[in-house]
Amino acid sequence: MHKFAVLKNIQPQPELVRENIKKNPGFGLYFTDHMAHVRYTIDDGWQAHQVKPYAPLQLDPAAAVFHYAQEIFEGLKAYRHADGSVWTFRPDRNAARINRSAERLALPQLPEEDFIESLRALVRVDQEWVPTPGEDADESSLYLRPFMIASERFLGVRASHEVDYYVIACPAGPYFAGGIKPVSIWLSQSLKRAGHGGTGFAKCGGNYAASLVAQNEAAAQGCQQVLFTDADENKYIEELGGMNLMLVTRDGRLLTPELSDSILDGVTRRSLLDLAPQLGLEPEERRITIDEWREGAANGDIVEAFACGTAAVITPIGRIVGPDFTIDHGEEPGERAMEFRKTLLDIQYGRVEDTNNWLVRLA
Ligand SMILES: *Cc1c(COP(=O)(O)O)cnc(C)c1O
Repeated sequence: MHKFAVLKNIQPQPELVRENIKKNPGFGLYFTDHMAHVRYTIDDGWQAHQVKPYAPLQLDPAAAVFHYAQEIFEGLKAYRHADGSVWTFRPDRNAARINRSAERLALPQLPEEDFIESLRALVRVDQEWVPTPGEDADESSLYLRPFMIASERFLGVRASHEVDYYVIACPAGPYFAGGIKPVSIWLSQSLKRAGHGGTGFAKCGGNYAASLVAQNEAAAQGCQQVLFTDADENKYIEELGGMNLMLVTRDGRLLTPELSDSILDGVTRRSLLDLAPQLGLEPEERRITIDEWREGAANGDIVEAFACGTAAVITPIGRIVGPDFTIDHGEEPGERAMEFRKTLLDIQYGRVEDTNNWLVRLA
């Protein structure tokens, strides 16, 4: 494992400013005083592991990332426990996933222990930025955003010989400010985010770029999110483009689309499947058609639907809006969605024993 040298920011945010940000951070708006950085070149490999002042990057306009989108990222959170210690959740899964993404995007592999050390090194230096969850805001955390970009100055089309890896961090408040409310979801018809042989399973910016027009369509329909179906047959449900999807059946199964190369292997998805038996549900990963969902919701076989991901944890789904139909799950969050939410958050915030050994201490 590489140690990260620390170059301290001599002009950190004043304490008062920092504390005010932490009171009402929103999401993705305010960043901490430092960032982690590791530089890669094809000749020397990864080098210069460092935590340094958060600052704009200087990149050549011909840097490959601007032209051919050779970029990947991760997303995870640091949680402050009641005793003041700071922990993260299953970072080994993010470490493995960034390397699967890197392989697909022709970026270099980052040793898993260096990935985890980059989080630890940054959070140690910026630990004052990790919010302390209060009674009414028990979901505050420090969101960690590792990412890797192709930084070589070269317009030829090939994998970049120079790459930079960074971790930045921002305090995050509860995703649902005024309480948890089910969302409406637009079923994208013709627009796809991923297809077989593509990059759907990789966490890369390009997938998000491909989903934004569909997201705009959803907003125009009064929906908050968009659901993508498979690109081949347009009938199997896949995911929401930033969150995985779960259905609960009346007879006690937790249903989710099975992984394929067009679905992202979410850590939250995996964890809910792992926790399902504890909540008396049988996990079931398989292909699910939109028609099965539609009919199941109509005849009462499918009683709940929710989306899951690190940022929002669990988002109950109230309605799916299709071109000529809607699926209705009601105005209230589902019982199971709320149970899963509490179970997961209790583990992440250290309010129950971590029997699965999912937590890793950062500070
Ligand atoms: C990050 C992401 C998810 C959720 O993954 P988690 O590891 O649970 O945060 C789901 N879908 C896509 C496309 C993603 O990028």
